[in-house]
Amino acid sequence: MIEPSGSATRERAVVIAGGGPTGLMLAGELALAGVDVVIVERRSTQAVDGSRAGGLHARTIEVLDQRGIAERFLSEGTVMQIQGFVGIPLDIGDFPTRHNYGLALWQGHIERILAGWIDELGVPILRGREVVGLVQDDAGVHVELRGGESLRARYLVGCDGGRSVVRKAAGIDFPGLDPSTSWMIAEVEMDEAPTLGMRREGGGIGPVDRERGGGPYRVVLTEPELEPTREPTLQDLREALVAAYGTDFGARDPSWISRFTDMARQAASYRRGRVLLAGDAAHVHPPQGGQGLNTGVQDAVNLGWKLAQVVDGTSPESLLNSYHAERHPVGARVLSNTMAQVALGRPDDRHQALRDTMRELLGMDEPRRRIAAMLSGLDIHYELGEGHPLLGRRMPDLDLHTVDGPTRVFTLLHEARPVLLELGGSGELDLSPWASRVRRVDARAEGRWELPVLGEVAAPSAVLIRPDGHVAWVGELSDPGLPVALATWCGAPAAAKR
Ligand SMILES: Cc1cc2nc3c(=O)[nH]c(=O)nc-3n(C[C@H](O)[C@H](O)[C@H](O)COP(=O)(O)OP(=O)(O)OC[C@H]3O[C@@H](n4cnc5c(N)ncnc54)[C@H](O)[C@@H]3O)c2cc1C
Repeated sequence: MIEPSGSATRERAVVIAGGGPTGLMLAGELALAGVDVVIVERRSTQAVDGSRAGGLHARTIEVLDQRGIAERFLSEGTVMQIQGFVGIPLDIGDFPTRHNYGLALWQGHIERILAGWIDELGVPILRGREVVGLVQDDAGVHVELRGGESLRARYLVGCDGGRSVVRKAAGIDFPGLDPSTSWMIAEVEMDEAPTLGMRREGGGIGPVDRERGGGPYRVVLTEPELEPTREPTLQDLREALVAAYGTDFGARDPSWISRFTDMARQAASYRRGRVLLAGDAAHVHPPQGGQGLNTGVQDAVNLGWKLAQVVDGTSPESLLNSYHAERHPVGARVLSNTMAQVALGRPDDRHQALRDTMRELLGMDEPRRRIAAMLSGLDIHYELGEGHPLLGRRMPDLDLHTVDGPTRVFTLLHEARPVLLELGGSGELDLSPWASRVRRVDARAEGRWELPVLGEVAAPSAVLIRPDGHVAWVGELSDPGLPVALATWCGAPAAAKR
């Protein structure tokens, strides 16, 4: 599939560097749109070192539901209230979504299920290959791999994690905060039953298998030194356990020992020419609140359809600018709330008093809803102008009655195509210039139009829903703004090439 550098290589439409959660999701989105995409992945298998991310938040479950694959994850994980701010639990059981909960499921399982999905969609993964450099010109990107091989692509997306080679090679700055604290993380067996639960100082011990309990245990402990130069060992872990608990609980047989810090950095731009960044390659932050994997998967869902439309000539390249415009502020909010959690998590009495105050505040409905909607991703609002509160927000998954029978909004999005949903309003529209790209559905909606945090909103008479599930337009079909919205998000009327 790959020929040596210098020989004629087949040009791919899109090369994705990195087959972690972000790269896999993006590959699926592109494949659904019929784009010729390949993933280059350094790991020789999909296996993940250690447990890493612990679950999916509500909006991520929703975007998987929009593609008809949420059940694959739900059937393997544990549905529970996993939302928390500095360890203060936040229940979203009263949120207006079918998924008013989180899903406890380790990253290895999430990646395995995503990899199975993109395998069904026919996306090739070049495993055991590493991107080491790139050169872009007006027509595409020359992607250099370790060992002298290369690939040619019209677009390259760096989903290659926090130390992204793509980001560096594209010359994209990564400003932010250096680490102030470092944590050791490990999975070990223990001879004695350990003290379970979070520690006031941060970190703690819990079973890896959260349903069954017992060992092996996942241990997270603050390190006395900031980012020591060598990798942590079992001896380091034992010493840290003794310092924290007075005993090492007979810790043995580690399957994973690693470290993470509270470094918080974000790419200055998510795009430079034909190179784009998504996931950890675009933003790194401490894991408090468990938002990293979730944000990356949602970056991919924002970018995939846009890149597909640019690649197939439906939309101009300028559509890609909306990716940075929409996702950079979301990433910046994640950095900000994780920095706040690290600051609030300091072990001294004054910070404990602050946490107690936060706990009291978050015990009230309005603050709880706001913070939980932010952490779960359910409040994401892209700036698409003034108008109906739905504009720029996620479309709620209402039950619908159509001439073809009952369905629901998310089912209409399975093919990752825009949907013009008519809900009994008046007016006419000639959709023929977009007919090959936009699915038109006439339906009656059942249930209340309710948004997280905002509450009930006026029922719309028609909505244009983007493939990522965000509402691009609300109004009557005769509204002159509708053809404008269609041209902005679904391509110019004359460019119906799909
Ligand atoms: C201890 C810990 C706990 C966490 N808990 C949570 C949590 O509860 N919830 C949450 O949402 N997130 C959590 N995270 C964060 C989460 O793990 C990451 O945000 C997520 O993995 C990012 O996905 P990604 O695909 O963008 O990047 P990565 O997962 O880093 O994937 C990048 C991929 O690119 C490959 N790669 C790298 N360089 C190259 C190259 N040059 N060429 C080819 N391939 C390359 C790598 O092998 C890897 O497969 C946690 C992280 C840690 C460390």
